[in-house]
Amino acid sequence: MSVLINLSAVLDDARCFELVRRMRWPQSVRCPKCSGEHVVRNGHDETQPHRQRYLCNGCQLRFDDLSDTALAGHHQPLRVWILCLYFMGLNLSNRQIAQELSLNENDVQEMTKQLREGLAAKTPPVVLSGEVEIDEVYVVAGHKGNPAAVEKKAAKVDATD
Ligand SMILES: [Zn+2]
Repeated sequence: MSVLINLSAVLDDARCFELVRRMRWPQSVRCPKCSGEHVVRNGHDETQPHRQRYLCNGCQLRFDDLSDTALAGHHQPLRVWILCLYFMGLNLSNRQIAQELSLNENDVQEMTKQLREGLAAKTPPVVLSGEVEIDEVYVVAGHKGNPAAVEKKAAKVDATD
């Protein structure tokens, strides 16, 4: 399907991790344990070169982009999760998403359930409502978009980049 081909072409690992970071930490990286802001970069994952590692200077916790999120510890590559999120934004059913991604419908059901509950367990689900730009591709997360909030968020990102 052409849509999927186009999306795969623009969704490289670097962009997928960048997207996760922007959704998870719109301002600055926060420690998932103590919520501290004194976090330093600490190299990259050995098998996933774009997966940033961090060290919290507050509580010494070592974590990375996916720590404590639904995206960690699963068999699906990050881009599959991102595409799943994209299709959810298009209001595709679990069955349709399963077909597009060549996945088992039960697996997709579990993925969409976790994505609706929020990207990170300790982060309010609001992080998933909004629109995130990946070049010309827009990922609309959640089913109740809030255009005004999205515009503000986009302006904020531009200002801090
Ligand atoms: Zn900490």
